[in-house]
Amino acid sequence: MIGILTDVTKCIGCHKCVGACVDANKLDKHIPAPQHTSDGLAANRWTSIIKQPDSHYVRKQCRHCLEPACVSACIVGALKKTKSGPVVYDKKKCIGCRYCMMACPYGVPKYEWDTPVPYVRKCTMCYERVSVGKQPACTEACPTGATVFGDRDKLIAEAKLRITKNPEKYINRVFGEVEVGGTSVLYLSDIPLGFLGWKDDLGKEALPKLTWSALSKVPTEFLGMGAAMTGAFWIIGRRNKMRAMKVKEEAEKKAVENETGDAGTEEKGEDSNE
Ligand code: SF4
Ligand code: SF4
Ligand code: SF4
Repeated sequence: MIGILTDVTKCIGCHKCVGACVDANKLDKHIPAPQHTSDGLAANRWTSIIKQPDSHYVRKQCRHCLEPACVSACIVGALKKTKSGPVVYDKKKCIGCRYCMMACPYGVPKYEWDTPVPYVRKCTMCYERVSVGKQPACTEACPTGATVFGDRDKLIAEAKLRITKNPEKYINRVFGEVEVGGTSVLYLSDIPLGFLGWKDDLGKEALPKLTWSALSKVPTEFLGMGAAMTGAFWIIGRRNKMRAMKVKEEAEKKAVENETGDAGTEEKGEDSNE
């Protein structure tokens, strides 16, 4: 199983990882609207750098949990934990209910609030790249080795070695080794990471068990199922309508282009006969 290890002590806050992610995933380059982000993450920012006092910079991204709460909360299977580690998203299946956003303990999935056909967006651990043997764009771009890609077990061993060699430098803990059942994205740090909604005191139990028990016991109270479903179907209807409008517009545009093109040819033909 693959993973990413980010060593907070090595990060210089250069944002190269953020830029590489935007480029690799063809994300909108605009800075996210402040009302949509408290930690820099947004539908068009799948990783962010959170500045902390004393020149500490912490890169945030999806933790790619081993037992992801987002996956268990998704009622249509739009989110999936792959065998190799990345948690991926199939927008064709998504109905826009946003249960994943409510279930994620790290506040990672974000919604495209500003687009007419909105989807949920988040880091995929560059699944397409890693599937063909490349590393994620962010780890490739990091100039200091603050964030590195590799086999999860080896990354944990490397993290523990760094702690053993420099016990005074690090908190004696590999963040993500066991929290919420373990995560594929791991951290080494010399400062606590429980800030900005980053709840690293969540315990070792995988959250899907809690998600499902809540869903099965009080489905109508948990997250307002009825209201959410109504919203979901409204969104699906809206998406379909937008798609139909787009297809119609394109067909009309093509027809006009064809007519113009034909007319041009006829005129040319007439001209050339003269
Ligand atoms: S961090 Fe959140 S979005 Fe990412 S895999 Fe875990 S539960 Fe899902
Ligand atoms: S793994 Fe890929 S998608 Fe995730 S933050 Fe890094 S560059 Fe972005
Ligand atoms: S590229 Fe590396 S050093 Fe620069 S902000 Fe990202 S993690 Fe930190």
